[in-house]
Amino acid sequence: MMTPHTRNISRRRAWLTGALLFALLPFTTSSVHAARGRTSVASGGTVGRPVATLAAGGEPMRGAVRRALAPRSGGTYIAEMLADRDSALARWPERGRPLSVWIQPSSDVEGWSSVYIRDVRRAFGDWADLDLPVRFAFTADSVHADVHVTFVDHFDEEISGRTKWSRDDDWWITDADIALAVYHRDGPRLDDDAMHAMSLHEIGHLLGLDHTRDSTSVMAPRVHVRVLSAADKATVRLLYTLPPGGVR
Ligand SMILES: [Zn+2]
Repeated sequence: MMTPHTRNISRRRAWLTGALLFALLPFTTSSVHAARGRTSVASGGTVGRPVATLAAGGEPMRGAVRRALAPRSGGTYIAEMLADRDSALARWPERGRPLSVWIQPSSDVEGWSSVYIRDVRRAFGDWADLDLPVRFAFTADSVHADVHVTFVDHFDEEISGRTKWSRDDDWWITDADIALAVYHRDGPRLDDDAMHAMSLHEIGHLLGLDHTRDSTSVMAPRVHVRVLSAADKATVRLLYTLPPGGVR
């Protein structure tokens, strides 16, 4: 379930909260205005059994957005993202240096395996293979890392991963951290494939993607696939050609 709440009283965010409430009901997202000029967002997802089901179609874009993006949005779920975010998109700026990523090197959580680190790295590699303007470099220096990936035993909510990110008033993402659960809320330990898939999903959030109702994509709220779909790739590629902020 999704329980968005915001302390910011601007009409825009109030509208956004309402839109998120209706759009992402099965999941947990909260939007908290952390500091002046910064907005923090948390998105949680869960991983399900692999299935091969056909996608549901995306919902139609609103008129102005459709006209602006229609020629380039085929095969993407950018329309769903725009509908869910009051027609605004957030992403990282193009940078001269890669995002430095620190992955928690060990954990006291029972059942935690160092193989998980490989799963997470592989997921970053899968996104990096798309040659986006955002690149990743792993670091052992947690203090100066741009992105922290940590492991928790489980979440109290029905999620297996959570990404918290912040953006500035121009909708550039400024920082992001990912937490991954070793155990599903209902008990079982995530196997390697599930950890890899959950990592793919959370890195998608880190890059600025939102959920899609397309269950064949890794950005479905409950992740049933284990690889990036054509729509995942097309959507993030399109996102990184667009200026952040409102698309109207
Ligand atoms: Zn998610």
